[in-house]
Amino acid sequence: MSKTQPRPFAATRKAIAAALGEIDGLLPGTVILRHMRCGKAGCKCKADPPTLHGPYIQWTRTAQNKTVTRYLSPDQLGRYQSWFDNTRRLKDLVAKLEIVSLQALESAEASTAKAPVHRPTPPRRPRQVDT
Ligand SMILES: [Zn+2]
Repeated sequence: MSKTQPRPFAATRKAIAAALGEIDGLLPGTVILRHMRCGKAGCKCKADPPTLHGPYIQWTRTAQNKTVTRYLSPDQLGRYQSWFDNTRRLKDLVAKLEIVSLQALESAEASTAKAPVHRPTPPRRPRQVDT
């Protein structure tokens, strides 16, 4: 085996690191479109079939074990959509980086199979005390 083998998957890891470096904002939680009924009597939202109000852009997240809900305008969603997308992107990139790092370790360490194997020493058994 050659001595000057490049570190495996280095290019992939570099590309992932670069993509991680481009993330300039993250927003937690989920964004859904909701249609709702109002409280007005005789409103079209209570007709049969009903015409519901909306869609409203509802952003829900958890903060200090409490659900926080906020409504966004279409303009606001447009301004922050990329930060919502980044949250998913970050998870994907981290998962990929873990996979290629594991592959890099396995391939690098397999090539040094002749290295001594260190076995962890088993914990000592507690001494039995006769009473
Ligand atoms: Zn209504």
